[in-house]
Amino acid sequence: MEVLPKNETIALREKHIGKSCQLFYRKDPLKILVGKGQYLYDDKDEAYLDCINNVAHVGHCHPDVVKAGCEQMATLSTNNRFLHDNIVLCAKRLVDTMPEELSVCYFVNSGSEANDLALRLSQIHTGNKDVITLEHAYHGHLTSLIDISHYKFNLPGGVGQKEHVHLASSPDYYRGKFRDSEYRREDLGHMYAQEVKEICNGIEEKGRGVCAYIAESMLSCGGQIILPQGYLQEVYAHVRKAGGVCIADEVQVGFGRVGKHWWSFQMQDVVPDIVTVGKPMGNGHPVAAVITTRAIAESFEKTGVEYFNTYGGNPVSCAIANAVFDVIEKENLRENALVVGEYLLECSQILAKKFEFIGDVRGVGLFTGIEIVKDRSTREPSKEIASYVSCRMKEEHILISTDGPDGNVLKMKPPMVFSKQNVDEVMYALNGIFKEVKETFEFAIAPRPRSDSCSKEARKTMGPSLKEAIIKSI
Ligand code: PMP
Repeated sequence: MEVLPKNETIALREKHIGKSCQLFYRKDPLKILVGKGQYLYDDKDEAYLDCINNVAHVGHCHPDVVKAGCEQMATLSTNNRFLHDNIVLCAKRLVDTMPEELSVCYFVNSGSEANDLALRLSQIHTGNKDVITLEHAYHGHLTSLIDISHYKFNLPGGVGQKEHVHLASSPDYYRGKFRDSEYRREDLGHMYAQEVKEICNGIEEKGRGVCAYIAESMLSCGGQIILPQGYLQEVYAHVRKAGGVCIADEVQVGFGRVGKHWWSFQMQDVVPDIVTVGKPMGNGHPVAAVITTRAIAESFEKTGVEYFNTYGGNPVSCAIANAVFDVIEKENLRENALVVGEYLLECSQILAKKFEFIGDVRGVGLFTGIEIVKDRSTREPSKEIASYVSCRMKEEHILISTDGPDGNVLKMKPPMVFSKQNVDEVMYALNGIFKEVKETFEFAIAPRPRSDSCSKEARKTMGPSLKEAIIKSI
């Protein structure tokens, strides 16, 4: 429901909300009033196709999730010092999707809280403090996590790299330290893992000890990077040999987004010591969790310090998380992520054949990145083109974001109810906007008046198979 006209909302926000909280599309921000499935509706009741909201995992305001939350809210919401079935059932559902070693859960309210607790557990279990993290990684907004989030601490106004923090290269085959243009793809996992081994050795040589290695199981803020084959297996072996534990941050990429598995780390055939989950878990409601081994949980217990979190695992949050699990299963959303994700990747690859400035296309399930470059041979990034495309897509009422160290990766991680027809809509619009880029930029970066070929209106009349249409036009 709209309470204030948009200009008043903007004025109040200017006055009372900290300027560090930034809006999407700052020049012309969206005022979204309603969400349904994969669509968002603004103050003029205009629909936007949402390709960025991995949090609204089973679709914005899914009726089953809303009902579960409302019913539980009308019945009881209290802390987890009382027995309640919702929390134990939610814990069981989580561990049932994980390797059996991961059998103990702690419930928290956000991905940041989950990662902070993961660090605390690691410190207690290993007695060490040094953390290995990846370049360009983001693990949350708490002070402990800004310290291990290169994405934040490395900014000009950031806190810088602390002594206990060690950076490993982002295992990016396209623009990382070791590239598939120079080495065989199948060797890259080993090469990047060797670097982690050297970091572990360096920590030991300094007379310190490894506490943890933390990484997302697919790198989202890092630019939609899919880890090279065999990478985590080798990394985990090195880290464990050095006495550290391995944390898989599944806050963005978990809950079946990859389709074939529930969790992205399963693609690498490893068992982490700690897994952190959040965002999609509550479909928009704040609920998150840490899942770990009995041994780590026992080290924590032995400290004798109680873990209490007022809202963590409350009956409402757990009712919601359980409903999210139900919907994923009932609506076969993992299967949908697989099928629609493959189609999205195929169509994006077709576009890449057509447009020189698409350097790379990659993805698994409903997690896709299109990397924009100025020059395919040098792989020099083009943030300008990527930002132009993302802004133009908004004008076409499709929301996609940009990310990666150079802001040149078009990022898509839509709600899991995304359909093939939605992919067609996205591709139709991208095709039109890419044509504009081709005609306009000639890499001089001065946008010309836009064409109508990708407009919302034109999309209504597009043919049934966009893929064929694009192939014909190549
Ligand atoms: N880990 C990852 C990988 C994330 O993307 C985020 C949020 N963007 C977090 C942790 C922190 O989660 P939250 O914002 O819920 O605290």
